[in-house]
Amino acid sequence: MTEPFRATVLTLFPDAFPGTLGASLIGRALKQQKWQLETLDIRTFSHHKHRSVDDTPAGGGPGMVLRPDVAAMAIDSVERFDRPLIHLSPRGKPLTQSRVRELAAGSGMVLFCSRFEGLDQRVIDSRQMEEISIGDYVLAGGEIAAQVLIEACVRLIPGVLGAQQSIVEESFEGNLLEYPQYTRPRVWEDNEVPEVLLSGDHGRIARWRRDAATSLTKRVRPDLVDKNAKPE
Ligand code: SAH
Repeated sequence: MTEPFRATVLTLFPDAFPGTLGASLIGRALKQQKWQLETLDIRTFSHHKHRSVDDTPAGGGPGMVLRPDVAAMAIDSVERFDRPLIHLSPRGKPLTQSRVRELAAGSGMVLFCSRFEGLDQRVIDSRQMEEISIGDYVLAGGEIAAQVLIEACVRLIPGVLGAQQSIVEESFEGNLLEYPQYTRPRVWEDNEVPEVLLSGDHGRIARWRRDAATSLTKRVRPDLVDKNAKPE
């Protein structure tokens, strides 16, 4: 058997893991070793007084910056094999489902979570870290971003979620958002489930879903349909 997908997380807050990754199907798959999670506490790699990991920014300004020597010791301690080394950062490339698919198909990833004002640029350059952002907003640390990235990848690993079909049909596959979903009861607060979905006519249902997905995507995310357009 091949080795399971392995996520190694470098963090100042190992207690934040597995966090939400311990819940539900993703957490069950972790217990069943369908994927592996390992955390390393960056602070244990500091040889400085009081195990300090940060210092004031060169050039002045508020906050603290993670020291390159401590970060590099932590990074270099990891057996990476062929796994990409990723720095979670609002200055990174925005995460997409297509990058998630590539990462999920690999053997895992090594994730570095920064805190404070971020990480000294020299480590990012010298260790050739790939920088990934989970969106255009600023978090207090990379831990939640790492969990977002891990969860997005792990749910694509065969056998982790129940039905593989649900993965094929959902948002961003074919650059469309998913069609709206309904379940029982058929009438709820005077609102009915669209009649076509109860018709049993698979051709009509498929057409209805494709049209609904297309019009939703055009309205909410025109940028997915037309690469030059911007979202509202
Ligand atoms: N001063 C930095 C922000 C630091 S936020 C700047 O303006 O770019 C502290 C840390 O939280 C970051 O170094 C990163 O590891 C994490 N983080 C914050 N926002 C993030 C985002 N949108 N995506 C991924 N990681 C993020």
